[in-house]
Amino acid sequence: MSKCRVCQRDLRTQESVDRGVGPTCAKHLPHIDMTAIRDTKVRYWIQESYEDISTAYFLMKGNKKLESAFFAHLASEKAVKSLVTQNTQSIPQKIHDLIGLSQQAQLSLSVEQQDLLSMLNGYEIEERYPVERQKILSRTTDAQFGEILEKASEFIQWCTQQIR
Ligand SMILES: [Zn+2]
Repeated sequence: MSKCRVCQRDLRTQESVDRGVGPTCAKHLPHIDMTAIRDTKVRYWIQESYEDISTAYFLMKGNKKLESAFFAHLASEKAVKSLVTQNTQSIPQKIHDLIGLSQQAQLSLSVEQQDLLSMLNGYEIEERYPVERQKILSRTTDAQFGEILEKASEFIQWCTQQIR
């Protein structure tokens, strides 16, 4: 039986659709066929984003919550970078600030999306400093870590909708 490439859930046969990132469940099915994206740089960033969000789910299953949030950030960063590439026809800056990158990509984000990106920014920075680990782990519940992952994957799905 095949599994969703993103969340590793078992798929029913009618769900096994591959739009350029491997078979996915209905929730993680990209809005566009990745293989139809003509700009190879845009395609590169968004496919990499799906790789990283799949790694984030894998880490969560292994109870590596902080690492999972870090990969959720990385995946979101690459999704935004695909839109920077598409919307500005320039190479994305080598920065990890999701708000700054979204502005560069000229995205109109909802308040919820802005909150999500600010929160993800925190995990990107603090994961680099091991002394912060216990502090973040103790102030973030398992449910909150699960929510970060769900919301980041929704955001990536939203980004694929913005690809022309
Ligand atoms: Zn899935």
